[in-house]
Amino acid sequence: MAGTSEHTPLDLPEGDPFGAHNLPYGVFSEGPDGERRVGVRLGDHVLDAGAAALALGSPYAALLAQPTLNPLLAAGRTAWSDVRRALTAWVTVPAHRDTVRPFLHPLASVTLHLPFEVADYVDFYASENHASNLGRLFRPDEEPLKPNWKHLPVGYHGRAGTVVVSGTDVVRPSGQRKGPADPAPVFGPSVRLDIETEVGYVVGVPSAQGTSVPLASYRDHVFGICLLNDWSARDIQNWETVPLGPHLGKSFATSVSAWITPLDALDAARTAPPERTVPLLPYLDDTDATDDPAGYDLRITVSLNGHVISEPPFSGMYWTGAQMLAHMTVNGASLRTGDLYGSGTISGTEENERGSLIEMTWNGQRPLELPDGKRGFLEDGDVVTMTAWAPGPGGVRVGLGEVTGRVVGHR
Ligand code: CA
Repeated sequence: MAGTSEHTPLDLPEGDPFGAHNLPYGVFSEGPDGERRVGVRLGDHVLDAGAAALALGSPYAALLAQPTLNPLLAAGRTAWSDVRRALTAWVTVPAHRDTVRPFLHPLASVTLHLPFEVADYVDFYASENHASNLGRLFRPDEEPLKPNWKHLPVGYHGRAGTVVVSGTDVVRPSGQRKGPADPAPVFGPSVRLDIETEVGYVVGVPSAQGTSVPLASYRDHVFGICLLNDWSARDIQNWETVPLGPHLGKSFATSVSAWITPLDALDAARTAPPERTVPLLPYLDDTDATDDPAGYDLRITVSLNGHVISEPPFSGMYWTGAQMLAHMTVNGASLRTGDLYGSGTISGTEENERGSLIEMTWNGQRPLELPDGKRGFLEDGDVVTMTAWAPGPGGVRVGLGEVTGRVVGHR
């Protein structure tokens, strides 16, 4: 189409972060109640991947003409690469143009859904800066990191059934809370509702119970990543967490982006994690994997009601997705298709790189000054949006889908 000034959906502007180098997967429908179908994002359009596959007589139609990503997730790494190669051809080879174009829908005209059926959900705590900040806040008289922190990726099991897609309203949770000066706990809507800026890893290929997944098998199991907001009620969490882990302060809602970015789109963003300062046990030791790094250089932006409040860098995360997966299965726990695990809050070294309000405001003591008012924690009506991009091939960006959510009052 060279020589024309008109951009059709298959002639993306140069450098579009959702160009043919990216091709993240989601699930969409025409109208909220329409039939759900696997979609692939191309610029500001969605390709109905199953319909295109059927029209082209592709052998991958059975994986793509589906209401969820789960069959594709289960198909494994060779199929993931083959399908991606086919999709790339469909959206770039001129001979396919007229066949594919009718299956492109403007993003603004479709409804996006939770793209996969979430099996188990585990959340980690892999940022040294975040863990240190919370240690300083809550245990000022101790070392910021607990003795186990640099020996294993600390995590807990979350609630898979309350993972929701970006755009879903989040109802302010109620629960028990008790401040240090309160004689007894009280019950009511959380008054310290927070965000946690995270990356989620989506597992495709299962593993058998009684076996473990070594570091080197990470990419045989993990299909891709999403952005994740681990909404957290700090007052509920603070009272309930001792001596076990997070429970009702976290389980009311976890938001994920509508688009899953395949690991195959992130090769140019791979980066070595920070230097390990204590020796690791062999199942976690990745110091010899410098030619196969499992960290990612993701640049994240967090906005509150449209105002940028933080830009956490993912490249500084102490633990990688491969290590979290190896740790999660080292006891023989099995993986299932659709398992989701979160990185934990991403915080950088700088004040404007913190991934939660409790860190940004130092437990509410230093409220954010926003054009529409001060914020210690979230108020009803607040909208939190996380976006991200990664370096792609040839300097072009790889866009990650946003995760956004609005806080609504307790019902
Ligand atoms: Ca978290």
